[in-house]
Formats: sequence, C-alpha cells, structure tokens
Amino acid sequence: MSVLVYALHYEGEFNKNSLGAVSEGAKLAKELGGEAAAVVVGGEDLTDELCATLGKYGVSKVYRGKGPEGLSQPVVDVMAKVIRDEAFKYALFGGGLLGFEIGAGLTARLGAGVTMEVTNVRAEDGRLVAERPILQDSAVVDVGYVSEPGIIIGRLNAFDIAEGGDPSAEVVDVDVQIEDHSTKAVMVQRGEQRGADVNIEDADVLVAGGRGLGKAEGFELCESLAEALGGAVAATRAVVDAGWYPYAAQIGQTGKTVAPKLYFAAGISGAIQHKVGMQNAENIVAINKDPNAPIFEFSDLGIVGDLNKIMPKLTEAVKAKKG
Ligand SMILES: Cc1cc2nc3c(=O)[nH]c(=O)nc-3n(C[C@H](O)[C@H](O)[C@H](O)COP(=O)(O)OP(=O)(O)OC[C@H]3O[C@@H](n4cnc5c(N)ncnc54)[C@H](O)[C@@H]3O)c2cc1C
Repeated sequence: MSVLVYALHYEGEFNKNSLGAVSEGAKLAKELGGEAAAVVVGGEDLTDELCATLGKYGVSKVYRGKGPEGLSQPVVDVMAKVIRDEAFKYALFGGGLLGFEIGAGLTARLGAGVTMEVTNVRAEDGRLVAERPILQDSAVVDVGYVSEPGIIIGRLNAFDIAEGGDPSAEVVDVDVQIEDHSTKAVMVQRGEQRGADVNIEDADVLVAGGRGLGKAEGFELCESLAEALGGAVAATRAVVDAGWYPYAAQIGQTGKTVAPKLYFAAGISGAIQHKVGMQNAENIVAINKDPNAPIFEFSDLGIVGDLNKIMPKLTEAVKAKKG
C-alpha cells in the first residue's frame, strides 16, 4: 500500500477537510501505482457501513481502531501499527489542530520526515513531493523525503473532495494495544467556540467583515447577509484584534484557512496575511469603497461602494429571491 490517510469523524460524519485528504491520498496512490487506505479511530458509532462509505473517495481499505475519539495519541498508536505492519510509504493528513498533533506525534514515534502546511502534493519518479509555501506565502518550496514513511500534513482545506469511487471499501479492524500514556488525557467536553451553529471551516458560504464595517455593531450586516445566504460569518485580524468579533472567526495566516464556494468580503483591504487564508475560495466577491483596494486584484466580482448602503439591499434581495 502507498498512502495512509487519517479521516476524522464526529457523530457519524466525516469532516470535509478529511474527505479532501482521503480523495487526495487516493489520487496520489494511483499516480504512484499503488493503493490508498484510510484510518479511523473511535467507538461504536464507527459502523461498518459508515467506514465503507470512505470508498466513495477512492480508498480500497479502511483500518478501524478502537479508542477514544478526538484525542491524538490513540490515533498515533493505531497509525504507527498499521504503517509498520503494512509498510505504507506515506501518511497524509488534512491539517486542522488534530491533524497537526497526530502528524507530529506519528513523526516522532516513527522517526519519520514531516512537512506541514502543505498546499499541494505531486508524484514524481515514483515518489511524492510536497509543496509548502514559505516566507508569508511569497514563495513555494518542494520537499522530498529521503526515508519512509514520509508524513505530509496539509493546510486546512487544501485538498479538494473528489467522489466517484465505490462506496464499499473493505473494513479491517486493527488489533492494537493503546499505550498507557495515550489515554492520560481525556476528552471532557467538545464544544464550538464560534458563537454560531455553523463551523466556518465547513461552511459553503462565508460573509467576512473587516475594518470597513466601522464598529463591532457593523457585523450585524454580515450576520444578516450570512443568514439570508445560509452561511457563516468570518473576520479579519484587524477586527478580531479590535475586539469586534471572536478570534475563532479569524481568517488568514494567523487564523483559519477556508475554501468555501462563496467568500464575500465586506470592508476588507485584502492584505497578503488575509489572502492566504481565503484565496482558495471558489468565488470571491468583494465590496470596498476604495477602487484600488488590493482585494479587487483577486476577486471574481468587485463592487466599489459603501457597504452600509449595499449590504442591506443585497440581504433584502437574497431574501426576496428565496421567497
Ligand atoms: C504577522 C502577521 C500576521 C497577520 N495575520 C493576519 C491574519 O491571519 N488575518 C488577517 O486578516 N490579517 C492578518 N494580519 C493583518 C493584515 O496585515 C491586515 O492588517 C488586516 O488583514 C487588515 O484587515 P482589514 O482588511 O479588516 O482592515 P484594513 O486593511 O484597514 O481595510 C479596511 C478596508 O475597508 C474599506 N472600507 C472602509 N470603509 C468602507 C465602507 N464604508 N464601505 C466599503 N469599504 C470600506 C477600506 O477601503 C479598506 O480597504 C497579520 C499581520 C501580520 C504582520
């Protein structure tokens, strides 16, 4: 086998970021002339049926380990065993906090090489090369591996989901002894910090607000439009630092990386540190009163004008259209 991909699930669903990684792993394994498998760790809710659906994203096998969910070390135990037993050449993660923690733990456990914040991976001469942006994303370096396994941790949402496989992957239970130190931490509570029902990393539509909103209350414009569009609200660092919106909504270099279908930027200048977190959105629409704002350089649609006048009208128009 060539590529082992970790798939994170919660309450019977795999998260979007993981499904992107599984799809990417399957594609890469094919290019290497091998096969990809997924690994899942959890309890009773990881049914045969649920695990087998990962086949849809191109993997032929799913390794299932029993262990507490949401903690990194038990997953490291399971993945280390599978990689050693089955001689996987690469382990791939979709990023996110847990992906980084598991990937780093696995690297230490196996004495492997690791590349983090990877935005693209390609197969070259029968090996994988990871592409990683550096220097505030102003350049990209190629990283190869001199030993196996190579650990690749993607940037959140860097990999696209591709369906079309057979949703009946073989499910294999992994017989592994979870290490004592791996269960020293326990999950006390899992919660969303975002002040909204929608997870911004998974939302298809994001309405993001910047300093152009003028004050904290300006976010009501973003919330109304997001509600009308069925999306979530995001923010720039400038407004998060100013205390206008929670840190959990921050997009960018020191915030989250997102790739929604629509990213609506209101009163955002488009600084490079913000751009790196949202440039993979399928469609970027920006409102800014300054026609020379950098955000227009990478927007699909730019509206020059005062957001205070445009956003309420837009929200009403969306609502009217939805009936
Ligand atoms: C190390 C480092 C890390 C950073 N990390 C991040 C990060 O993760 N995320 C991030 O976002 N930033 C980050 N920054 C900050 C970044 O450089 C910018 O300062 C920030 O993104 C600017 O936020 P903004 O667009 O809301 O504000 P501004 O740059 O002040 O832009 C406000 C925009 O609103 C427009 N505007 C004003 N009034 C109106 C109106 N009525 N109608 C329409 N438009 C209007 C203005 O023309 C302007 O273009 C980082 C900076 C550093 C140095």
